[in-house]
Amino acid sequence: MSMASFLERKRVLVLGAMGRSGKSLQELLFELGAHVGIADLSEEGQPAVPVEMDLRPSQDPAVLDKFKPDYVVTAPGVPLSLPIFEAARSKGIPVYGELDLAFHVMEEQGKKPYVFAVTGTDGKSTTVSMTEHILRNLPFAPSVIACGNIGLPLSQVVLDGVPDLLVVECSSFQLESVEHFHPDTACILNLAAAHMDRYDSLDDYAIAKSNIGKMQGTADLLIIADDFPYLTELEQLNGRLERLDVSSFGEGYVPYLDELKVPGQHNRWNLLFSLRMIQDYFIRTGIKWDDYAADLKKAISTFTGLPHRMEIVTEKAGVLFVNDSKATTVQSARMALESFSGRPIHLLLGGLDKKGDFQSLHGDGGHRVYPFGQAGPSIQQQTGARECFAGLEAAFNAASAAAARQSPALGAGSEEEFPVVLLSPGCPSQDQYKNYAERGDHFKKLAMEWNP
Ligand code: ADP
Repeated sequence: MSMASFLERKRVLVLGAMGRSGKSLQELLFELGAHVGIADLSEEGQPAVPVEMDLRPSQDPAVLDKFKPDYVVTAPGVPLSLPIFEAARSKGIPVYGELDLAFHVMEEQGKKPYVFAVTGTDGKSTTVSMTEHILRNLPFAPSVIACGNIGLPLSQVVLDGVPDLLVVECSSFQLESVEHFHPDTACILNLAAAHMDRYDSLDDYAIAKSNIGKMQGTADLLIIADDFPYLTELEQLNGRLERLDVSSFGEGYVPYLDELKVPGQHNRWNLLFSLRMIQDYFIRTGIKWDDYAADLKKAISTFTGLPHRMEIVTEKAGVLFVNDSKATTVQSARMALESFSGRPIHLLLGGLDKKGDFQSLHGDGGHRVYPFGQAGPSIQQQTGARECFAGLEAAFNAASAAAARQSPALGAGSEEEFPVVLLSPGCPSQDQYKNYAERGDHFKKLAMEWNP
């Protein structure tokens, strides 16, 4: 990282400096020789590097006059609607997102690897880690890193060393400001109403997502689901645009999809996107697919999925317990439900009330709903559930008791008869938990300790 950078001796203000991305940003900027200023709503914790000015706790336009930055760089959690961004623009100060800045620096240093990027409402992390897993298991063993929204900031990758292949998970927040980021092969998995508290309309949200292709060149590829709403923005992109028909499952891919051990039709879709991205990379770098067919299949079959996403916890007394705590949207809960269709399902739904439309999960489709938490009453009303529970534990107890009564004697029934207790809550967790992982861990503990 010795090369001179456009950021050397520049005054750079980091907004949202104290989260994980913000800290990596501080380090990267410091390493590049910038004068770092930090602002954040919280005053907790120490700066990651010696900073020129610590402007916490504030994110208002006044910090611009105090620090007089040449650039403002923001972590993904900070909404671009804050007055400080408008103020920066009116003063002619360029504003960068973390991902975009790190990407720019990577290119400036002449280190750009082959970049895959994934966005969408649901399935991003799964698709990113699937892609990472498959690539990593190729016999020529390329170095591969999954980064971005999945947890590891791109700034940190640039600091630690850039691999041969990058698989970047992009949230819509990270794509709001894109001036440099241009993945070689990208996809938009799907688009559903989520985060509508941050966007005025589904169109604004879709536009943010479509920014994944904004800076792509003519050789680059953007893959979208065939039901992606028509967007004039997409038609104006430079790259190749391809609609993937997820219902047909492209004939040639079927034997590969059949290797997947992780349950759920949606995971087969995710895999389809992943394979199409890998195929594009193969074609563009002269690697022959057929030479690696067996390796690809083996890699797919060894993918075990991520925790809290359709995670099989245990099977007791003929009852299967599945933790899908990461399902924070109605769409992802519906996908989970469909994955076990045909079996008696006891679905735990609830959490932070985002006024979701739960009517499509109405308990007349062969499953029973156990609403809980803040959204519980609304879910009960929309799904016709018999009862509503204060918390996850009470809902769990009712669901597992009912499931146990239903379970045929072991060895007696076929798989279709064995019930499933499924936590796929369709809501964020923050009414009662720190995050979805804490909620999922609670469910796992209840399942492991459950005594039929
Ligand atoms: P993201 O990173 O986009 O939040 P994850 O891979 O973490 O997505 O999965 C989040 C939830 O969505 C999980 O409950 C998962 O089972 C479900 N899910 C995964 N892929 C899809 C998909 N293609 N469509 C709908 N739901 C999905």
